[in-house]
Amino acid sequence: MKHLVLLGAGHAHVHVVKNYAQLARHGAMPPQITLVSPYPRQLYSGMLPGFIAGHYGLAQCGIELEPLLAGTPIRLILRSAVALDAAASQITLDNGTVLGFDWLSVNTGPVQDRQRLEKQMPGVREHGLFVRPIEAFGALWPRVAELAQTQALRLTLVGGGAAGIELAMAIRHRLPGAALTLLTGGSPLAANYPQAVQRRVAGALKDRNITVLVDAAIGFAAAEVQLASGARLACDVPLIATGAQAPAWLQGSGLALDAQGFIAVDACLRSTSHPQVFAAGDVSSRTDRPLARSGVYAVRAGAALADNLEAALSGQALKRHQPPAHTLNLLSCGQREAIASWGPLSAQGRWVWWLKDRIDRGFIRRYQKP
Ligand SMILES: Cc1cc2nc3c(=O)[nH]c(=O)nc-3n(C[C@H](O)[C@H](O)[C@H](O)COP(=O)(O)OP(=O)(O)OC[C@H]3O[C@@H](n4cnc5c(N)ncnc54)[C@H](O)[C@@H]3O)c2cc1C
Repeated sequence: MKHLVLLGAGHAHVHVVKNYAQLARHGAMPPQITLVSPYPRQLYSGMLPGFIAGHYGLAQCGIELEPLLAGTPIRLILRSAVALDAAASQITLDNGTVLGFDWLSVNTGPVQDRQRLEKQMPGVREHGLFVRPIEAFGALWPRVAELAQTQALRLTLVGGGAAGIELAMAIRHRLPGAALTLLTGGSPLAANYPQAVQRRVAGALKDRNITVLVDAAIGFAAAEVQLASGARLACDVPLIATGAQAPAWLQGSGLALDAQGFIAVDACLRSTSHPQVFAAGDVSSRTDRPLARSGVYAVRAGAALADNLEAALSGQALKRHQPPAHTLNLLSCGQREAIASWGPLSAQGRWVWWLKDRIDRGFIRRYQKP
């Protein structure tokens, strides 16, 4: 029987797993499948700001993998891939085990490459609190919240994209007495959003007394962030929410990669160099149509990936995945308020947060029930 390895339990793979689990429960014989994930649950980044703000417990923000696999022959290996040899069809895991595959699907998400970031911002490895892996950040955050009970904390959010913005406002809600600064990296705030949304975000940050500096961090020391402008910022906790990078282990894989090192895939989510390899979500890069890296697109790729894996394994024709040009993006603002953005349109208010909460909880529920 052919062996399919699902590497990473990202947004698209939870759908693939659920699809095969349902087939197995209805008596269909799925292929031999192994799911590789470093953690026994998949934390949903969309709900992370709500956890930081104190709206959700961490357990509410995750999809447990064991129950998803219960009653199916899908094997779960709790490990990370550290190397991939696409020509030899082998993955090396972080305990040295080598896992062979006939078919491979990669949905491992982006990384914050500590080595690369240390070169750009010396001291970040020692002093920075990294947002990824999200599981590690989720475990460390309560210590910051505890520390804030004993002293007036100065926090700096490094990164002016969606993650930095949402986390800054979530922290403000949780720690009303903290001094909060957001560094945009020198680019405009919320640079990937339309101007109307940029204005809304700037207003929301101002209302919450969060200082925004259009400046970049270039180094870290104890209780200090050094800025490109030459200024030094007093800081107890630098929180690193910079943009996502491709995992370094893809470099020696032999797979075709884009200029940033993400897996190059075609419209069917298939590697452009190795037909037995598929990839979806932030670790991949469409060669026919560049897409923004976002959880929304990663979720949408799930159903198409599941269909195309089933088709590929049974020798059927693949279908093109055509995600919409505009997706609904919802930025939470801490105190149960959010900003919505869809193409050129935007809106803001408590009802937007209510909608986001419903969508996010619905996503988790979909994969928690067998
Ligand atoms: C604070 C924050 C808030 C965000 N909010 C939003 C939002 O509201 N909307 C939105 O669209 N986007 C949001 N994003 C961006 C979003 O998180 C990513 O775009 C999304 O997670 C990408 O999904 P993915 O499935 O590709 O990867 P991920 O969700 O990162 O999943 C990858 C999985 O693979 C596992 N993995 C990683 N490395 C390995 C390895 N070597 N071997 C095996 N498994 C591995 C990981 O543990 C993880 O379970 C936010 C990001 C952050 C940090």
